[in-house]
Amino acid sequence: MEPAPDPLPEGSPWTDDLHAADVSTYLCPNCGEPVESTAQTQSPFPVCPHCGEPFAISTGDEQADAEAEASLRTRHEERERELDIVRIKQLSALRRADIRTRSYFLVGMILSFSIGGQLVLMTVQRALATHRLDLKLLSYILFALASVMSAAYFFRRAAQMTRELNQPTQQDPTTPPDFSTLSSGRDWRKDFDSM
Ligand SMILES: [Zn+2]
Repeated sequence: MEPAPDPLPEGSPWTDDLHAADVSTYLCPNCGEPVESTAQTQSPFPVCPHCGEPFAISTGDEQADAEAEASLRTRHEERERELDIVRIKQLSALRRADIRTRSYFLVGMILSFSIGGQLVLMTVQRALATHRLDLKLLSYILFALASVMSAAYFFRRAAQMTRELNQPTQQDPTTPPDFSTLSSGRDWRKDFDSM
């Protein structure tokens, strides 16, 4: 069987256009979406319009490709480092806020405790002086109890804050990532056809 004849003569502007269209659509290695060649993506590092990640295009020259890949990797690592610095700054800002909050709890605990002590003393003095449970003595007792309870509350909150601060700052998420919303590989053709 004879091969089908080329409908367009070799070297015509039409075949050149077809050829150019063929080689200038790339699949983003990051998200897998097709990225079409435009003047903007003619650079060796087009930025994927779907996910925003830059990637390297093969030039057919092995050395140039290796250099492009190394440069892309360096850029990616630099960005990761910058993100790490931002994360560390955020974590230490949170830590400072936690330490400040804990010191408020400790101040609250000390104040409540000293007020409570004062009220206990007043209760004892009043009871010794009057030998009867009048309204004033009852209110001393109630306020003394309330002060001791609030001191205990502030102590619990400060202790909880200390436990949080003693935890390592870098932690793996406690819940596994949820993949249930992702479609399986078998559905890709259906998804593709519905586009
Ligand atoms: Zn992409």
